[in-house]
Amino acid sequence: MKKLLFLSSASLFLFFTACQKDPAQVSVTSGINEAPIVVSPVAPPTEATDSTMLLGNPSNASSNTADFSNYLLREGYYSVSYNRDAGRPNWVSWHTTSTDYGSVPRQNDFRANDELPGDWYKANASSFGSLYEFDKGHMCPSADRTSSIEANSSTFLMTNIVAQAPNNNQQRWAALEDYCRSLVQDGNELYIISGTNGEGGKGNSNTITTTLDNGKISVPAKLWKVIVVLPNGSNDLGRVKDTTRVISVIMDNENTVGSDWKSYRVSVDDIEFLTGYDLLSKVSGAIQSVIEARVDNL
Ligand code: MN
Ligand code: MN
Repeated sequence: MKKLLFLSSASLFLFFTACQKDPAQVSVTSGINEAPIVVSPVAPPTEATDSTMLLGNPSNASSNTADFSNYLLREGYYSVSYNRDAGRPNWVSWHTTSTDYGSVPRQNDFRANDELPGDWYKANASSFGSLYEFDKGHMCPSADRTSSIEANSSTFLMTNIVAQAPNNNQQRWAALEDYCRSLVQDGNELYIISGTNGEGGKGNSNTITTTLDNGKISVPAKLWKVIVVLPNGSNDLGRVKDTTRVISVIMDNENTVGSDWKSYRVSVDDIEFLTGYDLLSKVSGAIQSVIEARVDNL
C-alpha cells in the first residue's frame, strides 16, 4: 500500500511503502536541523494482528447491534466497548510501543463515528455544547498515536471521547498520560484500558451535571485506568508475571486543581469491584490474583 505524507515542518515529501506485517521504521534526516524524523507504519493493524485486546475483553463486548450497551468497535489503533444509551465508551483498550510515537501533529478532527449503526445517536464535535463545562477528554490519547495522520485522527472519533472535568483532563489525568509516555521512552511497552463509571460529574461550574446534549450523553462520575508495564519484547501475554508492574487509578470526574495522580492509585480488584468487569482476563488466574490485588507504589 502506498502512502504519501507531507511533513510541512521539514518541507519534504516522503513516499514509502508500508507493509502491514513488517513494522520496520523509516528514518529520514531532514537536512534542516539534522534531527531524524522517524516515520512509523501507517497501516492500522489487521484484525489478525490487532494487539489492542491482548490481555482480554473486560466486558465481553460484541459487535452484535443487540449488544447496544456493550458494543464492540475495533478501530485498529484501539478497541472500544460503547454504550449507546449513555452516548459514551464504557472502556477503551490499546497497546502502546515506541513505534506509535512519530511526528504527526494533533489532528483535532473531533467527529461522529459513522461505524455506529445508522439509527443510533452519534455525538459530534459540537455535542458537548458551547459553554465548555467539560473537555472532550480522550481515552486513548492523541499523543499516543502520532505515527501517522490516520492513527492520530482515529483518536478524535467521539466514541473515544468522554465529558471530562477540564482540570482533571488537563492536569492529573494528563500527568499520568505523560508518565506513561516516559515509561515507553525508557524502553517499555504498555497495555492500557481506560474507562468510565457512573453518572454525574463536576466541570468548570463546579456543579453536578448528569448529561449533555438533551440527555443523549451521560457525564461519567468516575474515570479509571489500568496500565500494564512490560519491558520491550515479544510474546507479551506470556511475559505477564506476578512481578509485572500494573498501575491503576480511579479518579472522580471533578475539577480540583492539581497534577498529582499517584494518590489516586488503587488495585485492579478495586476497579473490577466498581465496574463488574474482569480486567486482564487472558492472564492466568494465578497471576491475576497477585497483580490485581497489589497497589502500585513506585
Ligand atoms: Mn486528555
Ligand atoms: Mn481480572
